[in-house]
Amino acid sequence: MNLLVATDRSFDSCLKCTACSSSCPVAAVLPDFPGPKQCGPDGERLRLKSRDFLDVALKYCTGCKRCEVACPSDVQISDIIAQAKVKYGEDKFRLREFLLSHTDLMGALTRGSADLVNKLTGTSVVKFAMDKTLGIDRRRQFPAYARQSFRSWYKQVEEKQHIYARQISYFHGCYVNFNAPELGQDLVTVLNAMDIGVKLLAKEKCCGVPLVANGFHKKARSHAEFNTRACHTALKQGSECIVSTSSSCAHMLREDYPAMLGQSEQQVHEHIIFITRFLSHEFQLGNKPEMKPVRLKVGYHSPCHLIRSRGVLHTLNILREIPGLELHQLDSNCCGIAGTYGFKKENYTTSQEIGQPLFDQIEAGEFDYIVTDCETCKMQIEMSTSLQVLHPVTLLAMGMSRGK
Ligand code: SF4
Ligand code: SF4
Repeated sequence: MNLLVATDRSFDSCLKCTACSSSCPVAAVLPDFPGPKQCGPDGERLRLKSRDFLDVALKYCTGCKRCEVACPSDVQISDIIAQAKVKYGEDKFRLREFLLSHTDLMGALTRGSADLVNKLTGTSVVKFAMDKTLGIDRRRQFPAYARQSFRSWYKQVEEKQHIYARQISYFHGCYVNFNAPELGQDLVTVLNAMDIGVKLLAKEKCCGVPLVANGFHKKARSHAEFNTRACHTALKQGSECIVSTSSSCAHMLREDYPAMLGQSEQQVHEHIIFITRFLSHEFQLGNKPEMKPVRLKVGYHSPCHLIRSRGVLHTLNILREIPGLELHQLDSNCCGIAGTYGFKKENYTTSQEIGQPLFDQIEAGEFDYIVTDCETCKMQIEMSTSLQVLHPVTLLAMGMSRGK
């Protein structure tokens, strides 16, 4: 049986405390959504009796995993809901879901025509057409594609990486490769200043987060197998570990791949680390880049998947090491975009309502920048507020450039 659709028996541990329901951002704004307890453990017991008990409202779950963080009994609520959508749902190809989820294919297709694609996806005519024909909400802004991919830029610095005694590998993900190569460049700058060389995996595929969210589970599994093999090779060739600058990719590679593939590759997955956890550990050992004061007031937004991975502490630790930085941790609110969820017409209003308390806090805070570890949180906050969003690694690189 496909492990992705195996029955998760953790629902047996439900204590019926409802802690999950009071932490669900969708249930808070959408009365039609029955909430995690009913969609997860309660619903699964019924669905096992008959698929007729499938509630169509399951589709409103964003997969944010805040219910799992709240659960005192370790019930894998979000996974139970995701599995139910696959096991009992319709297995129909949808063009919108295909286009939103095949991020590496879309990125590759825009090569050489990024300016044109950016211009077109920003026009009201194209937005209107996508809204009417595909169901992608016309109010949503698409991330811009970069003229040069990160992998192509990396060739300029590849040779130099061998001079460093220590080597780690970097899983850059689709966003850095096609949309934000400057973040990957900042990472190379920071790690090289710490006397660490950065290698790339021979090849990588999308981590699979958007594929799972849009029902392409078989493909997600084949990507998981491919990426795990690539990470395994990198470790064999001397990399200490594999780091990711995306909190969602890192969560998928480290936490979700073992469940998808079984525990046989557990040792590989344990060596995949979100970048701030790696940096925080290095800083504690005294390996820190030299930085001059960065006199900025920033608000830090913690992404849902990083909360689930228990990684927020590490990001705060490294931000606190930047001299002069005035750091404010924002209230723990979901931004509402949940990957591709907020792009869909039927979810747009829910998505924005979920994020509103966060947007209000950001606008009231008189910050210079917002900082977060997740690329889709960045998209949502930049679209919905007047503030620009930086990655923690970019702030570190800013401190170093001020130090030159
Ligand atoms: S994953 Fe998020 S949206 Fe889905 S039920 Fe849990 S808390 Fe609610
Ligand atoms: S928080 Fe966990 S134990 Fe409590 S109702 Fe929800 S699933 Fe059950």
